[in-house]
Amino acid sequence: MHELSIATSILKSAEREVENCGGGAIKEITLSIGKLAGVEIDSLKFIWSECMRNTVLGNAQIVIFEPEGNARCLDCGTVFGMKKIYDSCPGCGSYFKEILSGKELKINKLIIE
Ligand SMILES: [Zn+2]
Repeated sequence: MHELSIATSILKSAEREVENCGGGAIKEITLSIGKLAGVEIDSLKFIWSECMRNTVLGNAQIVIFEPEGNARCLDCGTVFGMKKIYDSCPGCGSYFKEILSGKELKINKLIIE
């Protein structure tokens, strides 16, 4: 259900953009969904076509980028890649970290025609 609410909010933003451009249909949409954003890409793709039928995104091609998770340890300063949000620092084992990337969930680009 989480993916459904994401799809719905993407659709709302897209509709707003189309309105701002004075109408049209979206040809292509590029999304950035970080590996740490907690989104099941497969589920999102699965509900996408159903959800977008007869909307401005009905015929849009979808491109998804999945930025890797990266964090900087607040204890020793090591920058490391993360597979899961609760991964600890490989250098010192600390759980205190600043997330640098991987939590993105946004529309990068819309091509409207
Ligand atoms: Zn550390």
